[in-house]
Amino acid sequence: MKTLGVLGGMSWESTVSYYKLLNDGVRERRGGLHSCPMVMHSVDFAPFAEQMGQNDWESITAGLVRGAMSVEAGGAEALIIATNTMHKAADKVQAAVNIPLLHMADAIAAGAKAVGASSLGLLGTAFTMEQDFLSRPLKENYGLDVMVPDSDGRAMVHRTIFAELCCGKLIDKTREEYIEIIEKIAANGAEAIVLGCTEIGLLVKPEDVSVPLIDTVEAHVELALNYVLK
Ligand code: GLU
Repeated sequence: MKTLGVLGGMSWESTVSYYKLLNDGVRERRGGLHSCPMVMHSVDFAPFAEQMGQNDWESITAGLVRGAMSVEAGGAEALIIATNTMHKAADKVQAAVNIPLLHMADAIAAGAKAVGASSLGLLGTAFTMEQDFLSRPLKENYGLDVMVPDSDGRAMVHRTIFAELCCGKLIDKTREEYIEIIEKIAANGAEAIVLGCTEIGLLVKPEDVSVPLIDTVEAHVELALNYVLK
């Protein structure tokens, strides 16, 4: 098996899911006492969140590059950035190391293929929904169309990601609002909804909605497992 590098802690609530799913996946496929070899660099998220608030992507990128170099030095043979938003810096992170970065867009595209969807709704932070670091590769490399919620919906999702989900608060009223937003995009033609923030899957489950969900933690773990077990 290959050793996976994981940039985590953004937030740790979802890094826990990555850690469990990666190990569950190896156990399922290899059996016995097998588990996923990893080198993890898990950060204090508060300064990153503050830098996002200040649009200081230079400091954020420098922090991610430091993490990527440390997992490479620790023996990682491939790297995942265990958050959607931080893929804004993916190209610069990839350029700083000699191991491949397993990109979230490739994971989402595989998830879309699995459910036969070509038109996707995307929920995530404002950065993820309003900038094109995920939607562009999905369009250019896979021909996938991406729709996002209206501005009130985007503001609500962005706010609750940082104020609730990343703080471990799962609130029923927020879940209901997410479901309403998801059903609205589905009614507008999205064939599947990308939970494009790694904490949303903690709140909204497939049985809550009428449209297929692509949970980016599950999709990213699947991509990573295919690499680790290749
Ligand atoms: N984990 C979230 C994501 O997947 C948001 C936190 C972050 O900004 O990294 O985008």
